[in-house]
Amino acid sequence: MRLKADPRVRFAGQVTGVEGYVESAAMGLVAGRMAAAQALGRQVAPPPDTTALGALVNHITGGHVVGQIEDSTARSFQPMNVNFGLFPELGPVELKSPDGKRLKGADKGRARKRLMSLRALDDLGAWLSSQQAAQSATA
Ligand SMILES: Cc1cc2nc3c(=O)[nH]c(=O)nc-3n(C[C@H](O)[C@H](O)[C@H](O)COP(=O)(O)OP(=O)(O)OC[C@H]3O[C@@H](n4cnc5c(N)ncnc54)[C@H](O)[C@@H]3O)c2cc1C
Repeated sequence: MRLKADPRVRFAGQVTGVEGYVESAAMGLVAGRMAAAQALGRQVAPPPDTTALGALVNHITGGHVVGQIEDSTARSFQPMNVNFGLFPELGPVELKSPDGKRLKGADKGRARKRLMSLRALDDLGAWLSSQQAAQSATA
């Protein structure tokens, strides 16, 4: 999220290629954390692409171009709202109802999104913890 020709220049908000209030604020949050880490001399990995923050960062920093979109070239880039299509697929998992029946249709879709959301929360927690650990180590 920095200018290649001059990495001192950072981008945040809609100008990064996201769209919407929440997405723009999210890219401000990531840019702010990265700038703060740099000022404190710390290395910070970008948020995992399994999280909403990371999925957006991945999209705007090249994920779109190497993604599975039919015309996945830089020219076909579109400003992006956050959506489940940006998240990496779940591994092989059989989605079942609480009574053990195989889920189909809309129920399957809802269960898939729920699992993606739980994965995102876990991975976001781990990302934040790793930053707190780095902070304690340098304090
Ligand atoms: C009509 C309309 C309706 C929308 N409705 C929705 C909606 O319902 N929900 C939603 O999620 N999103 C909506 N959006 C999108 C949303 O407004 C933007 O995605 C979001 O505001 C972008 O936030 P930002 O802080 O990145 O940029 P902005 O809100 O555009 O803020 C950029 C600021 O930088 C200032 N600026 C620009 N150039 C300079 C300069 N050279 N020097 C100093 N300051 C400068 C501008 O004046 C502006 O205040 C809508 C947008 C429009 C146009």
